[in-house]
Amino acid sequence: MSPKNNWPSPFPVYADQIPGESPDVLIATSGGLRIPAHRHILASSSPVLESMINRPLKHRSSSPPTISILGVPSKAVSVFVRFLYAAKCSEEDLGKYGIHLLTLSHVFLVPQLKQTCTKSLIEHLTIENVIDVLQLARLCDAPNLHLKCAKLIFNNFKSVEKTEAWKFVQDNDPWLELQILQFMDEFQLRRKKRRRHVHEQSLYLQLSEAMECLEHICTEGCTSVGPSDMEPTENRGPCSKFATCEGLQLLIRHFATCRRRVNGGCSRCKRMWQLFRLHSSLCDQPNLCRVPLCRQFKVKAEEDQKKGGDDERWKLLVRKVVSAKAMSSLSLPKRKREEEGEALEMKDNHEGRSFRL
Ligand SMILES: [Zn+2]
Ligand SMILES: [Zn+2]
Ligand SMILES: [Zn+2]
Repeated sequence: MSPKNNWPSPFPVYADQIPGESPDVLIATSGGLRIPAHRHILASSSPVLESMINRPLKHRSSSPPTISILGVPSKAVSVFVRFLYAAKCSEEDLGKYGIHLLTLSHVFLVPQLKQTCTKSLIEHLTIENVIDVLQLARLCDAPNLHLKCAKLIFNNFKSVEKTEAWKFVQDNDPWLELQILQFMDEFQLRRKKRRRHVHEQSLYLQLSEAMECLEHICTEGCTSVGPSDMEPTENRGPCSKFATCEGLQLLIRHFATCRRRVNGGCSRCKRMWQLFRLHSSLCDQPNLCRVPLCRQFKVKAEEDQKKGGDDERWKLLVRKVVSAKAMSSLSLPKRKREEEGEALEMKDNHEGRSFRL
């Protein structure tokens, strides 16, 4: 196939790869390049080009119809047109023309190219280019890229502050500066919230562990404390939650011997009392349960409920402990979960209200 006389030659892009079909449109660039192309290829890859093609195109009788793609380097336009033909782009071209190609993909609605550019720009983000890419991501409506830029700025603000791009923004674009500072604040807030959440979760998890320890101390005993009706076992080793269990055993020892708790003046005894209450709220077998005060607390809770005196804050605490336990059992390996299941089934039916210390 040979081009007609008035077509540029040689063809700089892929137009000559459609055998037997002559190009029927020219793409004009700011640099004066004229790229021959096929209307049906352009129309099928971009709805914007399609509507441009369906409008009467500019042409004099002596020259072929022309579409202008201006404002970006000629080479970027030719890489763009090549993408419309071949649906691919070399790493080198992406590295050189990534920002122009992202703009073109946005303006001409070519989602596949937009995705490719976004991925490449994310891979090539640096302290030096992040401000420019951030602005581009906003203009081209590329939220994923915008988020990655924002995170990079947030994590390296001290270095970003020293770049020419940031100084330029400070001198010329107060709105962008304000926006960046705002999302820095939001990130900071989110990070604080997340830390607080993790901290809270770990407290609820400790409570949930304490509940498990309380059950096994009252059922089969653990290291130094156990039910009073059981023989002390010499070789009983520490349980898997020993850090929590040991604290609880100390608390139980204190509770069993404290003299001040009679008039409610002891904070450690109050804490033990709350743990018994929490156990009762979580316990689904109060009639078989060997944990002290379990049934008494159940009866009291039922009476309170009848009177309409529900304690919402207490219920919320119970729910959070339940969910912390569920979360932690999801993250345990399967074998461990099975072992724990067996351990819980070992409860016997005796009523024991006091401890062997
Ligand atoms: Zn234990
Ligand atoms: Zn006490
Ligand atoms: Zn119970």
